[in-house]
Amino acid sequence: MSAAGADRVPLLAASGLQQRFPVTRSLLFGRPSSYLTAVDDVSLALHEGETLGVVGESGCGKTSLARCLVRLARPTGGTVHYRGQDITHASARQLRPIRAEIQMVFQDPEASLNPRQRVGQIVATGLRLRGVGGSAADREVRNLLAQVGLNPEHVNRFPHEFSGGQRQRIGIARALAVQPKVIVLDEPVSALDVSIQAQVVNLLDDLQQEQGLSYLFVAHDLAVVRHVSDRIAVMYLGQIVELAAADEVYGRPLHPYTAALLAAIPSTDPARRRGRHRPAVAPGEPGNPISPPPGCRFHPRCGRATDVCRTTQPPLVAYSGGHLAACHHPLGVESVGS
Ligand code: SF4
Repeated sequence: MSAAGADRVPLLAASGLQQRFPVTRSLLFGRPSSYLTAVDDVSLALHEGETLGVVGESGCGKTSLARCLVRLARPTGGTVHYRGQDITHASARQLRPIRAEIQMVFQDPEASLNPRQRVGQIVATGLRLRGVGGSAADREVRNLLAQVGLNPEHVNRFPHEFSGGQRQRIGIARALAVQPKVIVLDEPVSALDVSIQAQVVNLLDDLQQEQGLSYLFVAHDLAVVRHVSDRIAVMYLGQIVELAAADEVYGRPLHPYTAALLAAIPSTDPARRRGRHRPAVAPGEPGNPISPPPGCRFHPRCGRATDVCRTTQPPLVAYSGGHLAACHHPLGVESVGS
């Protein structure tokens, strides 16, 4: 995958993005009295031809972030720009031309495909957006199926006649049909067997090389995004805690949570894996996004926590190489006292 240049104009950019959901309402006026903050002051940018991995445990807000970025959800704060255009509050009509350039592939291919539609109809949905119909659409559907490694002769089959990996390939073909510039992949392989995961990731990699696509690749596991990401953002309880080039994140993690995610990657050695359960990412549970811990949100689970961690939220600070981390005591960095 291509290297990311920080100086290029981003295709897709979030600034101070926030997504809050009311969870309780007051009896008197029905106004929200408490909120779940799924995304809290997130800023990131996706560049042309780049893959940006977004990683964190379940409930960290990464799917809410993805939905805000493609404007399937309206953020409650901050901004989203596509090619420099502010689309934060764009109407459905204003979003229509942009929808053709930003596509989303979902985690569960079974749930995201209409079981009553034949594969040809599913993939042709995107072609209609481009005004392609008739025999040209038939030809293109077959081409798209071949591109994603499916048999074009299976165009009249229903989704249930395919395996999980093949259904995800159908979802990818449907996304490609509109000739997108950006694909937001929300845990695209986590519902698949490990052996199939690599095939789908390799397919995405090949498609990116051929078509110059940009990916925002959401995953709960650093292992999945390791070989496809140019940069990686690590999220914890709605916030980005580390953002850097993939090599930096894997080779020199600065945030203890990132280090814990790396330590939880299962070994690829079958002898070492035998009989072992997948290790926990860190002791304890991720905090509650309705009332996150004060100070650093990771402090109840962090072995390096000190008093300042319990009271003061660490800002996202740039270290050498543009490596960003939000930690009072980053790993491998000389302490300046706290
Ligand atoms: S700020 Fe403190 S508690 Fe948070 S990750 Fe860093 S060392 Fe751990």
